[in-house]
Amino acid sequence: MIIFSATLATETNTFGPLPTGLEAFKERGYYPAGTHPDEMQFFAGPLWAARQRAMGKDWTLKEGTVAGAMPSGITTRHAYETLRDEILGDLRQALPVDIVLLGLHGAMVADGYDDCEGDLIARVRDIVGADVVIGVELDPHCHLSQAKTDGADLVVLYKEYPHTDVLDRAFELVDLCVARHEGRIHPTHAVFDCRQIAMMHTSREPMRGFVDRIQAMEGRDGVLSISVAHGFPWGDTPDMGTRVLVYTESNQAQAAELAQRLGEEIIGFRDQLNPGYPGVDDALDQALAHGEAPVVLADSADNAGGGAPSDSTFVLRRALERGIRDIAIGPLWDPVAVQICFEAGEGARLALRVGGKIAPVSGQPLDATWTIHKLRRNAAMTGLSGTVAPMGDSALIECNGVFVVLNSTRTQAFDVDLFTQFGLDHGQLRIIVVKSSQHFHASFSKVARKIIYVESPGAVTQDLKSLPFKKIRLPKWPF
Ligand SMILES: [Zn+2]
Repeated sequence: MIIFSATLATETNTFGPLPTGLEAFKERGYYPAGTHPDEMQFFAGPLWAARQRAMGKDWTLKEGTVAGAMPSGITTRHAYETLRDEILGDLRQALPVDIVLLGLHGAMVADGYDDCEGDLIARVRDIVGADVVIGVELDPHCHLSQAKTDGADLVVLYKEYPHTDVLDRAFELVDLCVARHEGRIHPTHAVFDCRQIAMMHTSREPMRGFVDRIQAMEGRDGVLSISVAHGFPWGDTPDMGTRVLVYTESNQAQAAELAQRLGEEIIGFRDQLNPGYPGVDDALDQALAHGEAPVVLADSADNAGGGAPSDSTFVLRRALERGIRDIAIGPLWDPVAVQICFEAGEGARLALRVGGKIAPVSGQPLDATWTIHKLRRNAAMTGLSGTVAPMGDSALIECNGVFVVLNSTRTQAFDVDLFTQFGLDHGQLRIIVVKSSQHFHASFSKVARKIIYVESPGAVTQDLKSLPFKKIRLPKWPF
C-alpha cells in the first residue's frame, strides 16, 4: 500500500490587518517534501500518524511538502498557488498511490480563492482519479464546504477546543482510509447546516457532554465518524458557519438523520455557548475582587491564533493607568521593541514604546519606562498536542509591577511556560492576561483560580455583528 501525505494550513481572518505571504509559512513551519522533522508539526497530524502506523508494515509513505502559517489576514494568491502547486508536484512524483492524506486547516482564504482547501482537494482528485482514497483532517474552525466533503472520501475534524486531539483524530483518519482502501468499510456521508455561528468551548458544558456523546456513538451501529465544524466567524466566506458531518457504513439516510438530529441539538443549546463577557475594566475589577490568585484573563480579541496582530495595548494600558501590580501580560508581539531590549541588555532601565503598532485594532502605542528582567534568544513555548510553539527572540519587561512578555515570532499563549521560562512564577502574580481565545485553557486552567474571558476591542472581536461581512449566507444566527 502506498500512502502520500502533505500539509497546507492557515486560518484566514479576512478582517485581519496582516497579509499572509510565503514568509509567514517559512516562519511558522515549512518543510519541502521528505524533510519533515522527527516530531509532529501542528497541522501535519495525518503525516505523523501515518508514519507511526506504517512502522513494521509493508506500507510505503511518501511525504510531500508540509507548510503551515500562523493565522493572519488574507493569503496572497502567490503564496497559495506556489505552495499548492508544490504539493501537487510532489503528488505527481509519488504516483501511483492508494491513499492521499492531507493535513489542512479548512479556513484558508486566498486572493481569488474563498475555499483554498476545496480547490486543493479537487486538484488532487483530478490527479489521482476516483479510485484513490482521499482523507482530510481539518480544524473545527473550518468552513465545511461541499467542495471539501464531496471532494474527499473521508474528512475528520478535531473534536476538542482547545485542540488537544490533533493526533488522536489523525490516527482515526488513517485507520478509516486504510479500511476504505481495503474494502472493509463503505462510507456514506451527510452534512447538516445549523445556520449559526458561535464559539464552542469543549472545556465546559454544554459542549463537553455533547463531544463525549458523539464520541461514544462512533464505531457502533454503523456510525463511522462524527465531526462538528464549529466554523470560523472571522472568515467572510459563503460557507462560514456551524455544520455537522456524519459518516455511516453505506447508509446515507442514517447519516442524514443523525446529522440533523445532532445539528438540532446544537441549535437547542446555542444560547448557552456565548454567555457574554465583561469589558476590560469590568474584567480587571472582577479579577481584583476575587479572593484567590492568580486569575487568568483571556484577551481573546487579540489572539494571534485567530489572525490578530497580538500587539494590542487595551488591557496593558488600563493595568498601568490603574496602578495594578503583580500582573503579567503576554505574548505581546513587538519585534522592534525586542530588538531594542537586546541592545540595552538585561537589567537595563529605559524608555520604550510598546505595542499598538500594526493597525487601529492594536490600540495606541504605549510609552513608559521599563526594566528589562530577562532576555531569551529563539524562545519557545509548549504548544498543543505535543508540538512546540516558537516565540522568537523574546524579553520580559516590567513597569511598576506590570510584567510583559514581548516576542518577535507572532503566536498566541499556549502554556504557562510562556512566563515561567523567564523566571516569572504564577504564584507571585495576581492576574495573568493571555492573548489567546481558548487554547490557553489546556495549560492555564491548571494554575488559574478563576478564568475570565474579556470582551476587548481587537481583530478577533466577539462582537460579530460589528464585522462588515459581505459573503456569508444569511439567515444565520446570531445575525
Ligand atoms: Zn481551531
